[in-house]
Amino acid sequence: MAPACSKKRVRALTSNTEPMASATAPVMYWMSRDQRVDDNWALLRACDLARERGAPVVIAFNLLTKYLGAGARQFGFMLRGLRELEAKARAAKATFAMTYGDEPAAAIDALAKKIGAKTIVCDFSPLRDGVRWRKDLAVLSEKRGAHVEECDAHNVVPCWEASDKLEVGARTLRGRLAKRYPEFLKEFPAIPDDLVEYDGPAIDAVKWDDLLAEALKRGEAVPEVTWAIPGETAARAVLDDFVANRMKLYEKRNDPSKPRALSGLSPWLHFGQISAQRCALEAKKAVGKASPAAYDSFFEELVVRRELADNFCYYCPGQKYDEMEGQKYDWAKDTLRAHAGDKRPYIYTLEQLERAQTHDDLWNAAQRELRYGGKMHGFCRMYWAKKILEWTESPEQALKWSIYLNDTYSLDGRDPSGYVGCMWSIVGVHDQGWKEREVFGKIRYMAYDSTKKKFNIPDYIARVNALVKAAKSDFKTGEKSSAANPGLFSIDVSGVKRKADAMA
Ligand SMILES: Cc1cc2nc3c(=O)[nH]c(=O)nc-3n(C[C@H](O)[C@H](O)[C@H](O)COP(=O)(O)OP(=O)(O)OC[C@H]3O[C@@H](n4cnc5c(N)ncnc54)[C@H](O)[C@@H]3O)c2cc1C
Repeated sequence: MAPACSKKRVRALTSNTEPMASATAPVMYWMSRDQRVDDNWALLRACDLARERGAPVVIAFNLLTKYLGAGARQFGFMLRGLRELEAKARAAKATFAMTYGDEPAAAIDALAKKIGAKTIVCDFSPLRDGVRWRKDLAVLSEKRGAHVEECDAHNVVPCWEASDKLEVGARTLRGRLAKRYPEFLKEFPAIPDDLVEYDGPAIDAVKWDDLLAEALKRGEAVPEVTWAIPGETAARAVLDDFVANRMKLYEKRNDPSKPRALSGLSPWLHFGQISAQRCALEAKKAVGKASPAAYDSFFEELVVRRELADNFCYYCPGQKYDEMEGQKYDWAKDTLRAHAGDKRPYIYTLEQLERAQTHDDLWNAAQRELRYGGKMHGFCRMYWAKKILEWTESPEQALKWSIYLNDTYSLDGRDPSGYVGCMWSIVGVHDQGWKEREVFGKIRYMAYDSTKKKFNIPDYIARVNALVKAAKSDFKTGEKSSAANPGLFSIDVSGVKRKADAMA
């Protein structure tokens, strides 16, 4: 049978470029960014290698105790998704193993040694830690003659195939991606059903309840949101609901008082519980229910903008994607520096911002949506970050605080799209110079008065007030009120649970 995964998606991280074909030792997939069984090129690549040599597949996941400010909200979502994944992997005859520790390369290497894995496939991350961890694993593995490679399972067009340099913006990346869609934007094969089962040294059972209890306790300052059901099954239900019922509204995506127009998919995309390529394929099939224009706009965000964010984080100067220095172009840094001494109309502390205690009712609503709902409407995100630039001491502080707030409260935080969103708003990344003004210099400005002409601010505020009330009550009772969902969409929760339970 022909390999399922194109070699163009894969590149070696060790110098022994060809995977070792000798052993019947397991092929290990170190799963990190792409936490799913379905539609996962990295897992398919591991299956290709395993089938070539009649070897089993072991999926290893390393659990950190802390990661970029993630709390119970994010760890809970991830662990519950992984618990479902373990059952799904088992059904596909792949074995799931958990390792622990804040130096993932060492933990993964120790497991690989224990089970005798000499071939390790990693998924790809453009973020600094992710790049370093994979390099560290390659160094450790090479010492024992093992082969490590990475497979971009997150992007439709692998990041390094799309471009080998920092792109100026969507207009330069769009065409490059489009040329490669015939090669990469294809239907996924199923996981092969003839994998050999693992029967090597015992792998410790994962104590899910204990892990969850510990993570929820440790991160209790930011509790889980109840509307976002973790896992692949729920992710697919959100996608199906969006393409069938809501994509037709997508042209209204910039109206925060009508949030059903958005897909709401970013939490599941961030944790890799669904593939963006799957979303693109299903959206295409739904043209007819939604207009071609709605599909085109959705595709632009889902693929072009999202993959542009990976390009930026991977190739920006020094990989400083969360600092002013990550902006390559001097016009933006120069203009911000030239206006660093401008008097700010208001100055707020981090605590005032966190508690939504500003003079601006729209900004406060957006911050409350983030804090209690775990996801802020996409349009408000831009306004919200720009006002942090306007109301803090310096652009450096604005960038730091916006990333802190986003990563602390957003389910989809700690993502390339988040770093780029903050960098676009505050440091002009992927943007151009605009009319010069106080504080912002030539960075694009957003005003309350012009925003209020674009959508009904009181309607948005009323919706957020209802959300906060529902969320506070859900935090206490564990109920799942639809009003607590910032996207106001609903999926068949009991159907999702039935499907997930059937796998377990
Ligand atoms: C200040 C700021 C912070 C942001 N923080 C994050 C973040 O932490 N995580 C995150 O995933 N996105 C972030 N974004 C980008 C964007 O706002 C969100 O992806 C979007 O709101 C997610 O909601 P959705 O899935 O319902 O969006 P939809 O409009 O339905 O979009 C579908 C998908 O397309 C992608 N997408 C949409 N807009 C963008 C964009 N502007 N840039 C890159 N990809 C995009 C996302 O993967 C999204 O899930 C941020 C933007 C700004 C301006």
